[in-house]
Amino acid sequence: MTLRILCGLALVALGCDAGRSVAAPPAPPSSVLAMPAAAAAPPATTPEPAPAPEPEPPTAPAELAPWLTARAIIVDGHVDLPWRLSKGLDAAGRPTEDPSQRTAAGDFDWQRAREGGLDAPFMSIYVASSFEGKGAKAEAERLIALVEGLAAAAPEKFALARSPTDVRSNVAMGLVSLPMGMENGAPLEHELANVAYFRERGISYITLTHAKDNHIADSSTDARHTHGGLAAFGKQVVDEMNAVGIMIDVSHVSDDTFWQVVERSRVPVIASHSSCRHFTPGFARNMTDDMIVALAKQGGVVMINFGSGFLDAEVRRGRERHEAAVRKLVRKAKLREDDPRAAPIRAAYEAEHPPVRASVEHVADHIEHVIGLVGIDHVGLGSDFDGVGDSLPEGLRDVSQYPNLVRVLLERGHDRAAVEKLLGGNLLRVWDAVLRHAQHPATPAGPAPSPR
Ligand SMILES: [Zn+2]
Repeated sequence: MTLRILCGLALVALGCDAGRSVAAPPAPPSSVLAMPAAAAAPPATTPEPAPAPEPEPPTAPAELAPWLTARAIIVDGHVDLPWRLSKGLDAAGRPTEDPSQRTAAGDFDWQRAREGGLDAPFMSIYVASSFEGKGAKAEAERLIALVEGLAAAAPEKFALARSPTDVRSNVAMGLVSLPMGMENGAPLEHELANVAYFRERGISYITLTHAKDNHIADSSTDARHTHGGLAAFGKQVVDEMNAVGIMIDVSHVSDDTFWQVVERSRVPVIASHSSCRHFTPGFARNMTDDMIVALAKQGGVVMINFGSGFLDAEVRRGRERHEAAVRKLVRKAKLREDDPRAAPIRAAYEAEHPPVRASVEHVADHIEHVIGLVGIDHVGLGSDFDGVGDSLPEGLRDVSQYPNLVRVLLERGHDRAAVEKLLGGNLLRVWDAVLRHAQHPATPAGPAPSPR
């Protein structure tokens, strides 16, 4: 009941829609009805009006898309807001941007999340490879505290989430959840006990590596192949993540690491922000068809990255040429690329040569490719918002634009149930299975929906 009252207040205060498909928990049975007639309270003089019936959903994709995004639970596997905020701190170490308000910069804020229907963006606790052996755990702690600070500063808008149950109850209260995934296992710092420690701190998935090999596993973008896949410690980490209920994220890992993880893990794994290598041959950050099939066989989910370079080989080559041209001009001016004086050089070049970008249709192509390989139960969204800069595709430039993607999918004939699965249902299923296995390790994680 409390929940319902809170939800009501939140709905009034925030203007959130009352018609989400996730219903508030049922009210407890009325104690009045259970009492003897003599002790019953007198009947209320003004009976509560019956709630207005939900209008029929629109049929045209352009209208059905925002209707659907407002009602379905949208989970995004990877949003780099903590990294973005940590780049602009004041002298006291506080963020200079407030994402509980509409922000001029960046791809995410609460207002735009509401407009796009986003409910649970995984906050990336991104620890760069350069922290390996040099303060990685402290860096993760700093970013976790930053996310906790966001929820504490705007409890009427944001809430932490450690489980699908948390996400669902936050949705019922009109709150945007801030679950956390740790991008890079470097903060484990050779201590297996740190897996359970980070679970306690609210981490729900760990991406085993970032761009370089670490003490856990090999990365897809490091030519050293230090361990030939998982390190001995990495194998223990996989077992321990299964045991404590942290999802294993295979984005960024080498192909060897991927195959060894899938073979070893007793529960489904996720790729929090990777796309299909089918469209970008040779680009090892994306997943091959064989990898997608193996991930799906185990019940896992590949969450499609929106970055233009992840979506199309020709666009990727165009962007590489573009960046090379900018770098050349900056070097000619004897500046470093991160020098603020390099920005006008880039801007002048881009005024003449606008950078090429993918489109929302490319993202739909990747989703359909996964569906064609393994069915609807194994695909999700892992935008990389706030992490891939200006490379976001036309039509998916920030978190307000998920309805554009849904419209394209509806126009291509995908039905409402399919769209709800890929928006969030699939990831919530895996997350539930991983937590259930940790609570009852003797029982299997549950049958994987059969991949085609
Ligand atoms: Zn990443």
